[in-house]
Amino acid sequence: MQTVTLNNGVRMPVLGFGVYQIPPGQTEQAVTHALVAGYRLLDTAAAYGNEEAVGRAVKSSGIPREELFITTKVWIQDAGEENARRAFDTSLRKLGLDYLDLYLIHQPYGDVYGSWRAMEGLNREGRAKAIGVSNFYPDRLVDLIDHNEVTPAVNQIETHPFFQRTADQDLMRGRRVQIESWGPFAEGRNNLFSHPVLGEIGARHGKSVAQVVLRWLVQRQVVVLSKSVRAERMAENIDVFDFELTDGQMASIAALDTGRSLFFDHWDPAAVSQLGNARIHD
Ligand code: NAP
Repeated sequence: MQTVTLNNGVRMPVLGFGVYQIPPGQTEQAVTHALVAGYRLLDTAAAYGNEEAVGRAVKSSGIPREELFITTKVWIQDAGEENARRAFDTSLRKLGLDYLDLYLIHQPYGDVYGSWRAMEGLNREGRAKAIGVSNFYPDRLVDLIDHNEVTPAVNQIETHPFFQRTADQDLMRGRRVQIESWGPFAEGRNNLFSHPVLGEIGARHGKSVAQVVLRWLVQRQVVVLSKSVRAERMAENIDVFDFELTDGQMASIAALDTGRSLFFDHWDPAAVSQLGNARIHD
């Protein structure tokens, strides 16, 4: 597996497996299949409710801990210095781990500065090898960077053919923040899997639309997470390192950008309030 080197020297696989929306009862099996398929980067979150199942699959896999790269995220309800530390301990216990490779602030709401101070401490103590954020638009990202000691190693953001984030990626590159894609298939929206441009490019390489999308992201130096509960799709989605898209094909995909989220308006007060008040525990 190819890796990228984060701004603190930690190496991260360029392609990983995410478990959002996998019910806890199915997660252990899904992660077990993903590990067999060769994934070593696993992405979960306290808010997904399946950290324990991820931990069980990791434990029973027998794969040495240092070969895995495990990410989880602190939810808005647990923002703030003390809360974030407690949330980290809870996540670590649920995962059955004694350190995380990457700990992220899940959403840019609540007391993110308090959370960040906690995370800087966890990072110094070696309990979180790298720390970062998710769903931060450039304004909030730059503000966080400019007023804190540690620059986030990663910003995990919605990135797919219909919302490509090239300007955001340029800004992050300048600030030494690695972009990581969530929702690379736009969860199938806009009929992504039957898109004619992506299908035509795939046909030229004997690859599926999913493989074209993942390859396009890897070639853009975007770390990417995909999710599937089906073993055959997990194998398909990791098989993207034996072909290369041409400059013309990259340009054809670039033309699909709409510049807008398909999921969430981070500037809509009602949406911000709804998310900010979503509780994941008592
Ligand atoms: P996604 O990867 O864009 O799409 C997943 C969907 O695509 C699933 O319905 C899956 O169905 C289907 N699929 C997967 N491979 C396929 C293939 N080869 N052919 C056809 N269909 C395929 O969506 P996502 O799960 O939202 O994003 C990936 C990961 O990013 C998440 O699991 C999570 O770890 C992370 N994420 C983070 C945030 C955040 O706020 N930080 C938000 C969303 C996601 P089946 O499962 O039925 O195969």
